[in-house]
Parts: sequence; structure tokens; C-alpha cells
Amino acid sequence: MSSFIETEEQKDLRAAVSKLATRFNYVDYVLPKARKGEPLTELWNEAGKLGFLGVNISEEYGGGGAGIYELALVQEELSAQGAGLLLVVVSPAICGSIIGKYGTEAQKQEWLTGLADGSKIMAFAITEPDAGSNSHQITTTARRDGEDWILRGNKVFISGVDQADAVLVVARTEDHKTGKLKPALFIVPTDSENLVSTPMEMDIVEPDHQFTLFLDDVRLPADALVGSEDAALMQLFAGLNPERILGSAMAIGMGRWALEAAAKYAKERTVWKSPIGAHQGIAHPLAQCKIELDLAKLMMQKAAALYDSGDDFGAAEAANMAKYAAGEASIKALDQAIQTHGGGGLTKEYGLSAMLGAARIGRIAPVSREMILNFVAQHSLGLPKSY
Ligand SMILES: Cc1cc2nc3c(=O)[nH]c(=O)nc-3n(C[C@H](O)[C@H](O)[C@H](O)COP(=O)(O)OP(=O)(O)OC[C@H]3O[C@@H](n4cnc5c(N)ncnc54)[C@H](O)[C@@H]3O)c2cc1C
Repeated sequence: MSSFIETEEQKDLRAAVSKLATRFNYVDYVLPKARKGEPLTELWNEAGKLGFLGVNISEEYGGGGAGIYELALVQEELSAQGAGLLLVVVSPAICGSIIGKYGTEAQKQEWLTGLADGSKIMAFAITEPDAGSNSHQITTTARRDGEDWILRGNKVFISGVDQADAVLVVARTEDHKTGKLKPALFIVPTDSENLVSTPMEMDIVEPDHQFTLFLDDVRLPADALVGSEDAALMQLFAGLNPERILGSAMAIGMGRWALEAAAKYAKERTVWKSPIGAHQGIAHPLAQCKIELDLAKLMMQKAAALYDSGDDFGAAEAANMAKYAAGEASIKALDQAIQTHGGGGLTKEYGLSAMLGAARIGRIAPVSREMILNFVAQHSLGLPKSY
């Protein structure tokens, strides 16, 4: 994208995704499923069949041959109906991008076609109990045993392991056990022997679940390694920028959903002479939310355009800024939507307060607000580091 005007194709994609998401909207479909803790399988399957989940994957492997811009557009429109798919952030965005850039031909044949139509799902595991924000501290280790690899370590907060066919695990080789992270990435099938996954008890009303993983000497064939075993951080960033952009898209869509609900209610609800939306105390905060969401979206689009043009470094700053802005704008929009609904905002009828936990994810994952501020302070402003 070299201008701010979307092509007819992109507009058509937005409209088509929005149409699907309206059928699978938050109040009628997502919320009942989320309350039961069930994944959005029907929506996932239909979105997959329509080609929405693999728009960024190369046509050679059954994808749409477009970019992260288009995948973000899909996620934003799904989320704008409250039907964002968390695993889109992980499966086609992170794993699809990394395998697409660094995978062998055999890995691409085996995985990309399935990720493109959604028939295969891949989770992504980097976070560890003693290395949350500090991924340089991860200790999951891969050691050679003949041709094979043996993986040992613990991961936490891994989304969607129950739905996934495999997990892309970030480890480090024995040769690089300490010091600056040289990530080695492995495709670990979820039915691998000695891989133990346990659901975490989260307190978020959401259809997807987080898991702890214990890799208790999981044996993998040589071809489980993606790319080089000490490929420096670039290989990981091929996936982490799309993750931030897609996380932004989810937050922006969620914010749009909340804002739309608020505006609708503010036009209808009348307790004095005119609808509550006529009071500036209600109208102005909603207008501010609209501005902040649109600004976050612009930064997300910039990040996606930079990433798709191959400028990973430039994309990193924009993707971080977009994720920060989107997380903040979406939380604010949801909070203001609740306020606009008065007591109704806390009832089950509107589902607004049920979304609070899910909206807060945007401030914490995949990278927290504070770590983004650190990034901007150090990389954009050249300030010294305290940690
Ligand atoms: C719903 C959900 C889904 C997730 N899914 C996945 C997944 O699929 N795969 C995966 O690998 N991970 C996943 N995560 C993990 C997520 O990426 C981490 O939670 C996140 O990176 C923060 O790490 P932490 O929770 O360990 O927090 P910590 O690193 O312990 O940080 C705690 C607090 O301290 C702050 N802090 C830490 N260091 C600094 C510093 N130097 N300066 C200032 N403040 C600092 C943080 O910003 C944060 O506010 C998920 C998390 C959630 C909540």
C-alpha cells in the first residue's frame, strides 16, 4: 500500500469478512461460546473455507498471496463484530510468516497449505515462567542426539494448544545456553510423546484457552528445526512483527465494536429531554475514542505496509507503536461504552463487561505496554536502558 486509499479488492475483502462476522457476531454466537469456554470452530472453519485465514500466505501454498496488511484487515473486521480470532494472530500471522520466510520446501508443503485454509492450526510458544517480558532469559533447551533433537523446558500462557496440530516452540541450543538469545525454532506436534499441556485457570470470558507446556525431553526429527539453529533474532522478528500488527487489529476491531454499541445506545436512550448522546459528557469521550482508534489504525496500517515491503526494522517501531496505541484505545473505548450504558453496561444483555478481560489482553500481550515504552525510549529516543 503506498497510499491511504484501499484498493477495490481490499474494500471487497473488508465487506466480505464483515458479512461473515455479522452472522457470527458477539452477542449471538461468540459470547455464548465464550461463556461455555468453547472455541469458535464454526466461524474458524467458514473463514478458512472462504480463504480469509490465509490471505497472507503465498498462492503457491493455497493462500491469497497478499500480505499482513490484508490479514490485519480480516482480523479487524472480525473483531469489529466482536468475533476476532485469537489464533489468527498465532497460526497464519506468526507461524505462517516464519515458515513462509525460513521454512524448508517440505515444511512449507506440510504446513502452509493447512494454515492457509485453516484446516491446520499452529500455536506459538515463547513465554516461560521465569522469562516473561525478558525472552533473552528463556531456558528451553534443544540438544542433539544423533540426527534428532531433544527439547526440554517449560512454557506458560500458550494460547490454543487444545486446538492446535503443532506448536512452534522457541528454544535455544545447548551451545547458546546462556547470554543473548539466539533462538532456535522447532515444530512440535501436539501429540508428541513427553509433551504435557495443562490448561491454565484464566479469569477471562473468552473462547480460547491458555496452557502451560512441559517439554519433558521431547524427541524430534532433524527436520523439526525451522531455519537456522542460531539464526539470530531476525528469524523470530519475522513472526513477532505480524503478531503485534494482528494484536493491534484485534484491539482496534474490539474498540470499534464497543464504540458502535455505545453510539447506538446513546442515540436511543433518553432520560431527560433529548437522547443521552446529546450531552457532551457522553458525546465527547466517544468522539475521543473514535479519534484514538482511527489514529491507532493508521499506525497499524503503516506497520503492515512497512512489513509487507520487507522493511522489518522500520516495521518494528511502527508495530510496537500501533500495538501500544491500539491496546490503550480499545480499553478506553470499552470502558466508555460501559459508562454510556449506565447500569446496562454491567448487565449480561449487552456483553460489554464480559469483554473487559479480553480487552485487557491488548495491554499485556504479546508485549506489554511498558516493554513498548522501553523500546520507544531506547530505540526511537536513544535513552539509556535501566535493565
Ligand atoms: C491471554 C494471553 C495469551 C497469551 N498467549 C501467548 C502465546 O500464545 N504464546 C506465548 O508465548 N505467550 C503468550 N502470552 C504471554 C504474554 O506474551 C506475556 O504475558 C507477556 O509477554 C508478559 O509477560 P509476563 O506475563 O511474564 O509479565 P512479566 O514479564 O512478569 O511482567 C510483569 C509486569 O512488569 C512489567 N515489566 C517487566 N519488565 C519491565 C521492564 N524492564 N521495565 C518496565 N516494566 C517491566 C511488565 O510490563 C508487566 O506489566 C499470553 C498472555 C496472555 C495474557
